Amino acid sequence: MGRALLIVDVQNDFTEEGALAVTGGDAVAIGVTRLLGAQARDYACIIASRDWHDADSDNGGHFSEDPDFVDTWPRHCVAGTPGAEYDPWFDPAAVTHHVKKGQGVPAYSLFEGKTDDGETAAEILSAHDVDGVDVVGLATDHCVFASSRDALAEGLRVRIFTDLVAGVATESSHAALEKLVAGGAELGSSGVH
Ligand SMILES: [Zn+2]
Repeated sequence: MGRALLIVDVQNDFTEEGALAVTGGDAVAIGVTRLLGAQARDYACIIASRDWHDADSDNGGHFSEDPDFVDTWPRHCVAGTPGAEYDPWFDPAAVTHHVKKGQGVPAYSLFEGKTDDGETAAEILSAHDVDGVDVVGLATDHCVFASSRDALAEGLRVRIFTDLVAGVATESSHAALEKLVAGGAELGSSGVH
């Protein structure tokens, strides 16, 4: 059985100067590129997700003019705009599968995404005999949390590299990691710094 790397939403709108910038987002992008340079060959597959919303709708109430930053958000990651692209510090050359999520609906988890061929992350992991995943990306308290929670629900061994995630808020990020550990996840360091 193999291990996969899940890279969650390392996109311009979630890194510094983005529409929904997470402090430390650029540093995560740089660190993920270093990790791929050092260890890409250790993974059976490498899946990266992108939040990819419709331009002409509120995406199921996900976008708001008066966002609460819990369930509603400013416009972000609109399909085909620069904000939806990977952060330029993140080099996705070693990524084997790209999934997009959130077309017309709120979607926090990488497991809600599909490749352009319609494959889900669960299908990809199963096809590659993966039983464990390392999780990195943005944001700790939302999409990293939801992706890790779904990975645990898939019966996978989950390790989160805490040096390669960043959150919207400190307290909720801490709480998210605590919940994941309670659910069986392991916290670790990528060791690339
Ligand atoms: Zn979104």
